[in-house]
Amino acid sequence: MIVIHSVAQMQQYARDKRGEIALVPTMGYLHEGHASLMVEARKRAKYVVASIFVNPTQFGVNEDLDSYPRDLEHDKEIAEKAGVDVIFAPTAADMYPEGYQSYLNVEEITAHLCGASRPGHFRGVTTVVAKLFNIVAPKVALFGKKDFQQLAVIRRMVRDFNFDIEIVGMPIVREADGLAMSSRNTKLSPVEREQALCLSRSIAAAKAAFKGGERSVAALQKVAAAMIEGEKSPQIDYLEFRDQDSLLPLEKADERTLLALAVRVGSVRLIDNSILGED
Ligand code: AMP
Repeated sequence: MIVIHSVAQMQQYARDKRGEIALVPTMGYLHEGHASLMVEARKRAKYVVASIFVNPTQFGVNEDLDSYPRDLEHDKEIAEKAGVDVIFAPTAADMYPEGYQSYLNVEEITAHLCGASRPGHFRGVTTVVAKLFNIVAPKVALFGKKDFQQLAVIRRMVRDFNFDIEIVGMPIVREADGLAMSSRNTKLSPVEREQALCLSRSIAAAKAAFKGGERSVAALQKVAAAMIEGEKSPQIDYLEFRDQDSLLPLEKADERTLLALAVRVGSVRLIDNSILGED
């Protein structure tokens, strides 16, 4: 495995291997969720490139850009084990040099959920992912369903901008107790780590009610929210039942309905989601 820090060097590598690369974009501080994407990437192309870049343009002014966890040495071990050929870890100065002024914006589906709570977030995500697609020139790129809306936004961007790249969405990898793996979990205190279970419990409660025949979104919302409101510290940012394609609100739920939630536990904002009819 090699580590490339320069955009120009990455482009040179990609020029030689065009049509044979699978890309896994990440912000680093890798865990088993990221590794599952890399292992799948290994099966889908001759060369696997994992990018590690804490992208400043997707963080709002009061968000955790500076405190976002970073550990390239540890990331190298995980990526190597997962079969990655190249870690692409560019600097912000190389990605956004002096005079940079171009951004890519997907409109309607970025208006909801995380897009509503984090203005400008998806504009930063689509901009950096489009840049990575141009630099790495992958034939396939893998993303986690943990960031369900992000995956939907990337799919929309790929269709709308005619990127000739297959997008693969991978299942959420969870800790044994149900918490969705996230680099931000390491920022939770032991008490908050326990409280963070309210996200997966909320999903489980809504799914149980759905399985029991409840179809009213208002009723399901109450059931799910109760699991979080019963906790002292966690604060709901959003808890929504949506159409999984358009991400628009619904009144009646069905098997394909997406439950997506964002909850603040202490200073850490966690997200999770599930499709009601899926296990
Ligand atoms: P991040 O480093 O958080 O930007 O995530 C990089 C990629 O890994 C994104 O496509 C995420 O959706 C995916 N990912 C993060 N956590 C998980 C998880 N627990 N299970 C599956 N994929 C994940």
